Formats: sequence, structure tokens, C-alpha cells
Amino acid sequence: MKDSLRRYVKRGDISRLLTLTPEEEAWFDAAAEGPAPAPPFAANSYYLGLAGKKPGDPIRKQCVPTSNEFRVEPYEAPDPLFEKKFSPLPGLIHRYPNRVLFLVTDKCPVYCRHCFRRYFTGGASNQGGAKAIEEAAAFVAARVEITEVLLSGGDPLMLPDKALGAVFDSFRSARKSLLLRLCTRAPVTWPSRITPELISLCRQYRPIWVSTHFNHPVELTGEASDACGLFLDAGIPVVNQTVLLKGVNDNPEVLESLFTMLASLGVKPFYLFQGDLAPGTSHFRVPLLRSFDIVEALENRLSGLSLPVFALDLPGGGGKLRLFRESIVRRENGMFYIRNRGGRIFAYPDE
Ligand SMILES: *Cc1c(COP(=O)(O)O)cnc(C)c1O
Ligand code: SF4
Repeated sequence: MKDSLRRYVKRGDISRLLTLTPEEEAWFDAAAEGPAPAPPFAANSYYLGLAGKKPGDPIRKQCVPTSNEFRVEPYEAPDPLFEKKFSPLPGLIHRYPNRVLFLVTDKCPVYCRHCFRRYFTGGASNQGGAKAIEEAAAFVAARVEITEVLLSGGDPLMLPDKALGAVFDSFRSARKSLLLRLCTRAPVTWPSRITPELISLCRQYRPIWVSTHFNHPVELTGEASDACGLFLDAGIPVVNQTVLLKGVNDNPEVLESLFTMLASLGVKPFYLFQGDLAPGTSHFRVPLLRSFDIVEALENRLSGLSLPVFALDLPGGGGKLRLFRESIVRRENGMFYIRNRGGRIFAYPDE
């Protein structure tokens, strides 16, 4: 790899690049004293290189922790989507009949401060061993109704090609027709990971789709665009999921430009997510009514190709739901009550 990439995991590394704010210092102070809230800090020279020097910078906000993460609201839960309840085997989440999600690793090149899977990400679970992969593949092989496997984490591209190939191989052997969805933020946070070798590995195991996670137009650098282009040229479709994040992208102009740029690269804007109720993420949450305003502004400006589906993964395991104002059945005592497709009601804060 032509990589001069450096990984930063310590306060000392990053304070040479940026003058830390008191809120950022406070997070590192706490981390020095005991276990700070997960995920740990990790970033790299590529991603930090996109950050401006100002504290409000959208890249900096996504990767440099602050003491805001210590504030946990009563309605926030370590596992807001009840993934553990839907986990029949280590690392496997089976919430929808026709698809499963497999946690390949808990590691990522850059830990996003808004990560909703923080009960797991950057931990010490040693997820992804040969036994877990084998059992998950056997689970899929035994259930013909499962037609798609999401490979997620953490970031599966933290695995070396050989280990990743073994994961592909196990699921491909479970069923020839299985659709593999590689969920990775590497095109955004570590585009040099997308090498010709990786592409030829992925090609061998098609059908594969890549699902990535751009949140801001600044992330769409030449390198990031090229990384997406390599997948596309190899017949591997790329879709994008964006999380609405206060102070990062809660602005129709910013999102319009992001989605227009993605679509012209051939990357389909797939989901725009309202923030999940993960602990210590309230400073990122966009109030739901403001989110609807943003989405409606986008609907007026974007083509069908560029417009993602606005959705919320309902807290408490209600599943993903396309959100409309009409989804709200009640608003009282600081909460919205939202009806899912099955008719069950879930609460989401009215912040
Ligand atoms: C999001 C998710 C999926 C995929 O759902 P899509 O709507 O197809 O993107 C599958 N399994 C789990 C557990 C999920 O959280
Ligand atoms: S890349 Fe994904 S799993 Fe990793 S920290 Fe970011 S949001 Fe979480």
C-alpha cells in the first residue's frame, strides 16, 4: 500500500494536530483515569487530515470525543435496538426473517463518536473467530428463508484480505445465491484500504453490495471517490447510509450537496437515519420535528436517485421504520409515540 497512514489512539498524538478544547480534554482526562465511555478514541492521519482547526468542524466532531458523551439521558440504553435479544448465536443478529447481520469484528479504523453499537464497538469481545463464523454460516445454511447476510461490526475491512476471504467463503458455501452486504466505513475513513487485491477478492464472491457511511461532503475526497469507483467498476454496487447529526450535517444545503455528489459517483443514497438512542449521544441528536423539516426541504430539491429514505431504527427492537410525520400518533410528556408497521407503539424523545 502506498500508505503513509498513521493511527492515532492517544491524547498526545492528537494534541499535536489540534488544540484540544476543554470538553475534549475532559474526555481524555476521564479515559486516563478509568474506563471512559465506549467507544475508545481512534482516528488516523487521513481522516483527521480532513478536519479543520475549528472545534465545530464536522469531521472533528465525528472523531474527537468530548465530555458531552458523559451525559446519559434516562431514555438512552446501552443496546438501544435490543440487538442482544435478537441474537441467536455469538455475533449474529436475526431481526428480520430474510436477512441476518453478522458482527465480523468490533474494531474500526476511526471510532465514530455517534456510533450506536457502542455496547460492542472497540471493546474486547474478540468477535469473529473461526467458530463464530462457522456457526453463523451453518445457521444461514439451515434456513432457506435467509437470502441476505450483512457483514458488519465494527468494520469488516479491519480484517486482512485473507481473513475477510474466509468470512466470504463460509457464507458463500452456506448458499450460492446469498446476497452479501459488506457494511464498511473504510471508503470514508481509510480509502487506501480499498486496494486492487481487495477488489479482486470481493469480485470472486459476488453477489456483494457495499454499504458505506458518508455524512458530510468534505468526506467525499478524490481518494474516497476513487475507492467507491473501484467497487463500482468491479460490478459491486455501493449504497450509502447517513446519520443526521447535529452540528455536522443537520442542514438541507449540506445534505443536498452530499447526496447529489454521491449519486453522480454512482453511489445510491439509501438511508438517512434519525439518531438512535445510544448512551452519550444526545448532543448529536437532531430534534425529530426539525429532521422532518430538513427531509421535506430535501424532497423538494432532490431527484429520486439522490433522495434517501428517512428512517429510524425504533428503540426497543421495533425494527427500521420509514418515518413520516403521520408515523407519530401522540406527543406528550417530552416523548413522541410512533407506530411501527406491526401496529406497536414506540417512544422517542421530543428534544
Ligand atoms: C438494518 C438491519 C438490517 C438491514 O435492513 P435493511 O432495511 O435491509 O437495510 C438487517 N438486520 C439488522 C439486524 C439490521 O439492524
Ligand atoms: S465505523 Fe460504524 S461501527 Fe465503527 S464506530 Fe463508526 S459507526 Fe460505529
